[in-house]
Amino acid sequence: CGIVGFVGTPPSSSAPVGDHPDGAGVVLDGLRRLEYRGYDSAGIAVLADGASGAGIAVRKRAGKLANLEKCLADDPLPPSATAVGHTRWATHGAPTDENAHPHLDATGRVAVIHNGIVENFAGLKAELLADGVVFASETDTEVVAHLLGRAHEETGDLTEAMLQVCRRLEGAFTLLAVHAGTPGTIVGARRNSPLVVGLGEGANYLGSDVTAFISSTREAMELGQDQVVTITADDVEVRCFDGSPAQGRRFHVDWDAAA
Ligand code: GLU
Repeated sequence: CGIVGFVGTPPSSSAPVGDHPDGAGVVLDGLRRLEYRGYDSAGIAVLADGASGAGIAVRKRAGKLANLEKCLADDPLPPSATAVGHTRWATHGAPTDENAHPHLDATGRVAVIHNGIVENFAGLKAELLADGVVFASETDTEVVAHLLGRAHEETGDLTEAMLQVCRRLEGAFTLLAVHAGTPGTIVGARRNSPLVVGLGEGANYLGSDVTAFISSTREAMELGQDQVVTITADDVEVRCFDGSPAQGRRFHVDWDAAA
């Protein structure tokens, strides 16, 4: 239902961990701003950049953001320059901790959040099950996590993997994905569901709408239909699902949002 992504600039590897951007905090702030959309669960994933640990860390809880906040207070996420967050409005699978996003692939190296419905997920899931993939949730979304993990194994590149997977998906989706091997990068995609990039200074953002990042930047870029975007702290690259280069529509948010 609500989607937030943040990539900031990590300090040099010799800097203390405490100097790292608080990616989880930035994303949690965005999720609070998106609460008005309604939701039944929430979750956050952060990507360690080497200096602050290794791999992907996830916290997710059914219920209000307060439940996730309590979980984060008991078991904080490490500081991180790369974070994604989601508020879920369940369509496939009950609102449980397991079905909350982010979802991981079988290796735990890919994390995905998703708005919308993958209409052809049953066929894709049957294919993965026949191949021995074990599912941890009842969501349509988890199919995308496993497909991305497999495509990444083949291509070695998260953007290429996202392009390949999106060409197989039907329905409405906004997707954000991160890979443990590429801290500092988030790949997003959209079809029949919105995705906006927030353009900051030494940081870039993704949101299901501009309220997700309005407290940080008012410079934005709207993605077109069937496009994939790859963001780092200082770069934004857009491509169409067929792989050809594309341009997002730049705009300035000039309405007076509650800060
Ligand atoms: N279809 C997905 C699910 O049920 C995403 C729902 C949403 O848009 O939040 O988990």
